[in-house]
Amino acid sequence: MSSLFLRTLREDPADAEVPSHKLLVRAGYVRRVAPGVYSWLPLGLKVLRRIEAVVREEMDAMGGQEIQFPALLPREPYETTNRWTEYGPNLFRLKDRKGSDYLLGPTHEELFTLAVKGEYSSYKDFPVVLYQIQNKYRDEERPRAGILRGREFLMKDSYSFDLTDEGLAESYQRHRDTYVRMFDRLGLNYVIVAATSGAMGGSASEEFLAESATGEDTFVRGPGGYAANVEAVTTPAPPQIPLEGLPVAQVHHTPDTPTIAALVDFLNAHPESSAGRTFTAADTLKNVLVKIRQPGATDWELLGVGVPGDREVDMKRLEASLEPAQVELLEEADFARNPFLVKGYIGPGALAANGVRFLVDPRIVSGTAWVTGADKADHHVVDLVCGRDFTPDGTIEAAEVRAGDPSPGGEGVLEAARGIEIGHIFQLGRKYADAFGLDALGPDSKPVRITMGSYGVGVSRLVAVIAEQSHDEHGLVWPRAVAPYDVHVVVAGKSAELLAGGEEIAAELERQGLDVILDDRKASPGVKFADAELVGVPTIVVVGRGLADGKVELKDRASGERTEIARDGAAEHVA
Ligand code: ATP
Ligand code: MG
Ligand code: MG
Ligand code: MG
Repeated sequence: MSSLFLRTLREDPADAEVPSHKLLVRAGYVRRVAPGVYSWLPLGLKVLRRIEAVVREEMDAMGGQEIQFPALLPREPYETTNRWTEYGPNLFRLKDRKGSDYLLGPTHEELFTLAVKGEYSSYKDFPVVLYQIQNKYRDEERPRAGILRGREFLMKDSYSFDLTDEGLAESYQRHRDTYVRMFDRLGLNYVIVAATSGAMGGSASEEFLAESATGEDTFVRGPGGYAANVEAVTTPAPPQIPLEGLPVAQVHHTPDTPTIAALVDFLNAHPESSAGRTFTAADTLKNVLVKIRQPGATDWELLGVGVPGDREVDMKRLEASLEPAQVELLEEADFARNPFLVKGYIGPGALAANGVRFLVDPRIVSGTAWVTGADKADHHVVDLVCGRDFTPDGTIEAAEVRAGDPSPGGEGVLEAARGIEIGHIFQLGRKYADAFGLDALGPDSKPVRITMGSYGVGVSRLVAVIAEQSHDEHGLVWPRAVAPYDVHVVVAGKSAELLAGGEEIAAELERQGLDVILDDRKASPGVKFADAELVGVPTIVVVGRGLADGKVELKDRASGERTEIARDGAAEHVA
């Protein structure tokens, strides 16, 4: 340490709010260059490289092949996919001296698709998984928390290329398994959450969220181990449905009856029912609330037509029993912005207890409730399934019901928690292959359009996430798998004997195959102990007064436990 390029700080940096940011700066791991742009100093770089090694090993083990693309990219491929425009202000755009447009890659789907198109042409070439570990650039609106949300950051991104949907599903599952192994090895505490409309059907996209109070993502944990990101379903405010005096519909779900398409036809055939609006395709009517009045009834009933594609309504029964004027388009719910719903189980009892009038057949109803969290801040959209009682963590403000399939799970309390996105796996399908015309020639010489998946891991973010999950008031506490060193030898005194003793023990530890940092500075023992705690190496060996009696002290950084051990054989003992 007398020559290590390291200066620890006693004070927290002024711009730091979260523990990992404070500690990584104070312990001399990273230094800020510009907002969201950081340098890695020796200790930080060691941790980053160790995490990168775990990620690389797991990617190689699952059959991924590493390549590397430039970060400086021409505009054209991103023009082809429209992302040059769509990416908005987050994209770093620049011009070269000739005036040609370039960008700094925020993610590399375009390049990977083109690379495969360039090299492969036969069905025999597929499937293939390619990956890179490379700096990405995003002009984040709020770079925060140091390396947690950088504008330059290290990402592992991989891409799978398959001939069939089943192949894609398999590649996706293999990535999922790989991520579980990776994040387990890194000692992370995390959940896997549904990230899109997958909540009700297949999971086209899932996120790995590290649990952390400082996380920007909110997720909901339900019974049966289910978790989902509610990032996109917190706010907007609930639609102003005047539920007072408006009984909620009883809608019967029968699997063999027509779907939303039938309701589209029905509304189109009866303009007075659809407020003059024409619906052109089934998917334009994804998320509509309609008010219905049974013949002869005075009460209106509320019917919500739900998430894309998978809701079925007994239209035959509706049409048979209703006059056109008795169906009225009430409101279009903005599920387009909230493309997934959270699974939960809230039954009529819970709704009634929260003052929502809810006349339902408990066997067949599913739906949506806008729930205010206990913190009274965010609104969460929850599914309502199948009449089982489920107590939400908060107050139900409004509810919409619709026919739907009961979903698996159990009963329990809906719990909101915070997390940091560390990985994201995504079934892209044929979007990029369509844009670039990526085909393989099949066995019958007919072209087969390739289907893709993309899979990201925030490698540099992981350094901060691990620090976030593993620290105490004295400093960082690295898990062994990623620590910059295995053992920290502190020479607690200035005498030549102690220094020689420390150097010998450090050399012995190295011969045991351990990575050792030796504090041979002239500083006081107090300063050295404080720095050892701050830096966070898992095992600390103190070479002090006891050395004269053939003893050294062993300290476990995580538990704080100290034991005196014999100087002779100390290295073997530690190893
Ligand atoms: P976030 O929701 O945190 O903005 P994202 O969904 O935009 O992340 P992806 O495009 O899915 O990110 O990228 C894959 C991974 O890269 C993320 O899961 C995350 O771990 C990491 N990542 C994304 N943006 C950043 C950033 N600004 N700084 C550090 N890591 C990031
Ligand atoms: Mg982002
Ligand atoms: Mg995200
Ligand atoms: Mg993501």
